[in-house]
Parts: sequence; structure tokens; C-alpha cells
Amino acid sequence: MKFGGTSVENTEAFERVLSIVEKKSVEARPVVVTSAMARVTDALIEAFEIAKKGATDQAFKSLDVHFERHQKVSEKLLDESSKKRFLQELELAKEDIKDLLNRVSRRSLPLLMLKDAVVSYGEQLSSKLLAEVFSSAGLRSYHVDARCLIVTDDEFGAACPLWEETKELVCLEILPLIKEGYIPVMGGFIAANRSGETTTLGRGGSDYSAALIGAAIRADEIQIWTDVSGVLTSDPRVCPKARTLKTLSYEEAAELAYFGAKVLHPKTIQPAVDLRIPVRVCNSLRPEEDGTLILHSSQSTPRKVKSIAFKKGITVLRIISARMLGAYGFMSAIFQIFEKYRTVVDVVATSEVSVSLTLDNTESLDKIVKELERIGKVEVEKGNAVVCVVGAGLRETAGVAAQIFKAISDFNISLISHGSSSVNLTFVVKEDVADKVVKKLHKEFFEEE
Ligand code: ASP
Ligand code: MG
Repeated sequence: MKFGGTSVENTEAFERVLSIVEKKSVEARPVVVTSAMARVTDALIEAFEIAKKGATDQAFKSLDVHFERHQKVSEKLLDESSKKRFLQELELAKEDIKDLLNRVSRRSLPLLMLKDAVVSYGEQLSSKLLAEVFSSAGLRSYHVDARCLIVTDDEFGAACPLWEETKELVCLEILPLIKEGYIPVMGGFIAANRSGETTTLGRGGSDYSAALIGAAIRADEIQIWTDVSGVLTSDPRVCPKARTLKTLSYEEAAELAYFGAKVLHPKTIQPAVDLRIPVRVCNSLRPEEDGTLILHSSQSTPRKVKSIAFKKGITVLRIISARMLGAYGFMSAIFQIFEKYRTVVDVVATSEVSVSLTLDNTESLDKIVKELERIGKVEVEKGNAVVCVVGAGLRETAGVAAQIFKAISDFNISLISHGSSSVNLTFVVKEDVADKVVKKLHKEFFEEE
């Protein structure tokens, strides 16, 4: 069971987590992974940046409010002995952070290494606090330092886990605890390299930790507890009738990930996908709901259309060149330019003499266009939106594409991509009609059954 930052943002949130885990522990043997309290990771990164400029005192002071947030939870929820232990931990953490920030301003160790050490305190503190909250409520919990379980390479800031070593350590440490009836509690996101130096798995990395731990112990299910009701049929701000999906395949979830941070990043659940462990996305504000269960496609209920996602602020580039006809090497020449400027291309469509593609990061647009102009005529069109209809079997099912385009026949559609993955149909519309298009499609597929 992994709890995200908003699920542990304050005293009430910690109480909700306690009650969720308490209930679960009656029928199952949970392992708990937690994020830092909401906004703490951002604050630690900010403190690091301030210290980098030399203002160590200011950097340390900026964290005061967050130390206080931890203290407040401990005063409300911990019994005397737990509180004493936790406050001692908090004091040690403060000393250590102060020392690290000093080192940052004096550059006495590699900066990226120091950054991970500073940032890791978010999860170190939240997980210790959560373990004490459980103990104070009478649960048999046991805090485990994730840095002794997850082994990574040396890529500070976005370290890559070493699976075999991690699996061995996790089994060695966690399985005996579970057998003895303990609930292991640990921080997500943090790990260590082979030399024992603290590393982190990249922003949002707690999901990754949960998937690694769950896969290592072959959990029955990995639960990602957040503040939304699973994965929805569309964005409820645009489609008020949007509802939670009961099931989704890993592949469908991966297609949707691009459109919303609320859906799991495919990379982070890969360990679960490899072992076909179901991943459930649950809402800690509404624990009675089932959330969305993400499964291998063979286990997921087939349904033509599952969800309609969209993204605004998209720029379309069209490269036209008669030289392209019957020639090879054009694509590679074009994509090399995007690679050079580290710009992600999302949707691509080609004809004999032109290539159209979409970008949502236009930081290097001018430079990219300049280089593309050596290849052909370039048209830039801003103010677009990508709409993506996701569902397993879209390609095999006759008539779905027709149904989609018929429903939105009033609107001008450009750049259609269908069939590169069997689970999505993507197209581009003008930004100002995106909401209307999405509403119409939602109505067509989800509101008239
Ligand atoms: N606390 C880390 C972050 O904010 C990791 C996580 O929450 O998953 O990125
Ligand atoms: Mg998070």
C-alpha cells in the first residue's frame, strides 16, 4: 500500500491512512510505502537551491514550517514514548540537514549527491512518523530504511534500481517481518547505491518504490493511494459525468499517462507489469470505493472505449518537401533535430511529401524550425489540442473510428494517428474546441448506454 504526499499531508490525512491500513490488516498482511508529506520534497529542493547560492541560514529557515508540520502531527497522534522517539529523530534530521546545506554552499561534496541526501529527508521523516502513528494506535508496525532495501546505480536524482540485488534484500528483510505479524513501513523514492550513498528514483518515485517492493515479495496486489478516485473516463472538470473505471490494462494506463500526472507513469509500474501483479489506484479520501484495478490485458474486461484524454497547448509542425517522394533518410534527418534539442514528439503522421507532428514543449521551437527549414518548407501552427481515445481492441473493432468521427463531425480534425498502438486513436483539434469535442465523445461513449 503506497500513500502519496496528499494522503499524508496533515494530521487528518495520517488518521485516514491509519484507519485504511488498520482495516486492511484484518484480512491481509500489508506493507506500507509512503511519500513525503505534501510539498516537502519541493521545499527541500528549494532549500538546496538557496544553499547553493550561499544563503545557508535562509535555506535552513525556509524548512521550519515543514518541520513544524511533522511535529504537529506527532503531538496530535503519538503516545508519549513514540513522540519522544520521533522528536529525537526530528532533531537529528534537522542537524543533519543543516550540515548538508552547509556542505552545499561550500561544495564540499558532489552537489547531486548532496541534493539527494537533503531531499531524502522528506520520506525519511514521513515514514518514521507514519510508523510511530501505527505503533501508537496499537498496530504492530516496523520502520524499515528503504535505503537498505533498494539498490541503485550512481545516477543521483534519477537512479535506476538494480533489480536482482534489490529483490534479494527486500525478501531478506521484509518477508520475515511479515511472517512475524509486523507491518513494515518505509519511505518511497529513496534508495542507495552500492557504496551506500543515498540516491533518489526521480520525482514521483514513490510509486516506483512500491512497485519494486510489491514485485520483490510477489504481493497479491499493489495499491497506490492518492487523492483522486482511480482512473476516470475523462477529466471531470470538462465532463461532470465522468466516472471511475473499474479495470484498465497496463497498456491502456500507459497511453493515458501522457495526459495526466494522476495516472501512473508506465516506467514506475514496470516491475508489477513484468510479474503481472495487479495495481489498484485508490482514493484515500474515499476508502470505501474500489478505485481502478490495472491488470494485464487478458485479465481486463474488454471494452471498446475506456477513456478520453486530452492535452492543450500543443504546437503542430508540418514539414513539406517534394524531395521526400520516394527517398529515404528523411525521417531520420528530421528526428535527429528533435533529438539534438531534447524535444519530445508525441503524434506523428506522414504522407508522401510531408510529415506532421505535435510538440508540447516549444522551448527550442525557433532553433528546431530553423534547422528543419534546411530539409523542407516548415509550417508552425500553435493553439492546438491532442485528443486521445483509449481502449483495448480499438483497432480490431469495426466501426469505432467511424463512431468517433461521426460524433464530432462538426469539428475540423487534423493529424490522425490510429493503429500504432492497438489501444489508442489520437487526433488534433483546435484548442478552443477541445472541451466541446471531449464532451461530445464522452456523451457518445459513456452517457447514452
Ligand atoms: N516525494 C517525492 C516527490 O514529490 C516522491 C513521491 O512523492 O513519489 O517527487
Ligand atoms: Mg507524489
